Amino acid sequence: MALTGIEIFKMLPKTNCKECGYPTCLAFAMALASGKAELEACPYVSDEVKEKLAEASAPPIRPIKLGPSDAVKSIGGETVQFRHEKTFFNQTLIAGMLTTAMSDAEIDEKLKVFMDMQFERVGLNLRPEMMAVVDKDGDAGKFSGVVKKVMDNSDALVLLCSDKPEVLKAGAEAAKERRPILAYATADNADAMGALAKELDLPLVAKAEGYDALAELTSKLTGMGLKDLILDSGAREIKEVLKDNIVLRRAALVPKFKPFGFPVLNCVAEMTDDPMKQALYASVAIAKYSAIVVLSDLEPHAVFPLLLQRLNIYTDPQKPMIVTQGIYPINNPDENSPIAITTNFALTYFIVSGEIEGSKVPTWLMIMDTEGLSVMTAWAAGKFVGDAVGMFVKKSGITDQAKTRTLIIPGYAAAISGDLEEELPDWKILIGPREASHIPAFLKSI
Ligand code: SF4
Repeated sequence: MALTGIEIFKMLPKTNCKECGYPTCLAFAMALASGKAELEACPYVSDEVKEKLAEASAPPIRPIKLGPSDAVKSIGGETVQFRHEKTFFNQTLIAGMLTTAMSDAEIDEKLKVFMDMQFERVGLNLRPEMMAVVDKDGDAGKFSGVVKKVMDNSDALVLLCSDKPEVLKAGAEAAKERRPILAYATADNADAMGALAKELDLPLVAKAEGYDALAELTSKLTGMGLKDLILDSGAREIKEVLKDNIVLRRAALVPKFKPFGFPVLNCVAEMTDDPMKQALYASVAIAKYSAIVVLSDLEPHAVFPLLLQRLNIYTDPQKPMIVTQGIYPINNPDENSPIAITTNFALTYFIVSGEIEGSKVPTWLMIMDTEGLSVMTAWAAGKFVGDAVGMFVKKSGITDQAKTRTLIIPGYAAAISGDLEEELPDWKILIGPREASHIPAFLKSI
């Protein structure tokens, strides 16, 4: 059963040395109890207490680290069933698929598509992260050859799929720097697959149809000393996948049923050959608890909406989405281009930058940090007022890039124009439109 912050605090050294990054042992205990801190952060906890606390403070769904040590990605580690209760921590990984039946040219092309598929959004680089390599003929040399291509030609995380332990071992050798996932352990091969995963210290997908069989399999594997397991309920019908994902998450969180306390993998590539249906199924899986979805092909028109959906679901609802403060050149501005300013609320940035881009008028867009508040709210909160905006403009470095001394402020912030003129006496302050849709006409008119 989970311990409270006070119960954890009683077991800490109480020296308030701050080495864990928290000002006091009590603050660290509270953070630990709410899943925001990791026990390893305190170097002074005794082994005995460590064992006690690790058990009690571990998230109900085991976090699993993948990838190279300098670019670790985690799956699992979730603590709530509904995003509005707290937040979801580790985004669903989106994977494409390669098989040993594909030609070299086809594999090269798919890896190129994988590497090229990157979308810039809200200052973030959105992209799929993983490639599944599927063994079709039991040839270990061929399998490790495909894995090697993934390693040489991409930075993808790797999911290795074969029912033959020796084939998986050859692939795992080739991908060892990225901590690949082994798939699948079933009731029939659990001993061999479990031993392999243990020997290589790699995550293993446990696959069984039916909750009893899955619980029995994961219990057997954990009994062998394996900790990093991933669940596949074996369902390949979307209705069943949805039901199973919900049941597994709920069982792990509410009664804290340990055999299901692992992240879930959904292979939508095995559910249908229709790429559009795969995208729809992946969307359902992302919405309801999948840690990894595997598609047979990574088509930009299907992956982009999935990336956006994922971004929305895994964004902390208690923190506004923000863009980084700075100067954003839009439509290749030069030193004579106009300068506009707005707040760093992501939605504001999206809309304003989109309208400027659509206008085709080269423009410098300055984004000021208002802690993610929109223009009106930031103004009302005193974060987007004349002196603050003036100070930001002076320090931003915009005068090194543009000769223009005309600043366009949002129509909703018209009230700050007087103060801003005082703060920036060499500048002309223009009040822009209130509605973003009027921005193109406004820019063209100046
Ligand atoms: Fe307390 Fe440990 Fe943090 Fe030091 S590192 S303040 S002893 S919890």
